[in-house]
Amino acid sequence: MKEKIIFATKNKGKIKEINMIMKDTNYEIISMEEAGINVDIIEDGETFEENAVIKAKKVMEFCKCIVMADDSGLEVDYLDKAPGIYSARFGGENTPYSIKNKMIIDKLKGVKEEHRTARFVCVIATVFPDGKVLTTKGTIEGIIIEEERGNNGFGYDPIFYVPEYSCTTGEMDKELKNKISHRGKALTNMKEMMA
Ligand code: IMP
Repeated sequence: MKEKIIFATKNKGKIKEINMIMKDTNYEIISMEEAGINVDIIEDGETFEENAVIKAKKVMEFCKCIVMADDSGLEVDYLDKAPGIYSARFGGENTPYSIKNKMIIDKLKGVKEEHRTARFVCVIATVFPDGKVLTTKGTIEGIIIEEERGNNGFGYDPIFYVPEYSCTTGEMDKELKNKISHRGKALTNMKEMMA
């Protein structure tokens, strides 16, 4: 029987994506809801790593099993890596992404392509009942374009252009994005570390 890992998220889409990557392992990923855990977590770390570990440890207080968590965001080089760990809160937690994306486009108005570099970052943390903590990081490099393109993704995807694939992550096929994305890479690294 597969060992259960609780993933500290309320996002069902993430659980599905993670189980796809972990399907050939001895682990089954379940959501906090499936585990009967309902806790609001204050992400007050200063880095993606700190926040991912904070989330996993908080959920670990409610169970004695392996807990995994992630923290991710967009780093725009011209904006000194903002919004970074504040990506979800940037411009207001409940502000639509059409407006958040426009805010970033406006901040980069007139900036030449070579200075519009950015990346999505994801850190996955796994904490074990014996106190062991593992973290992995994945990134995908791109540039911020001047208008939104594509409806396949979420968040900042429509303004994040990946030169290697000549499209934004908002225009990209979901399966391809999962494979090459920051989250996909961090998870694959975690899977290898836990094998
Ligand atoms: P979370 O840590 O996965 O909740 O992500 C934090 C925020 O980063 C999200 O709310 C988005 O604003 C942004 N973000 C993270 N990953 C992506 C992505 O793959 N596409 C677009 N935006 C993302």
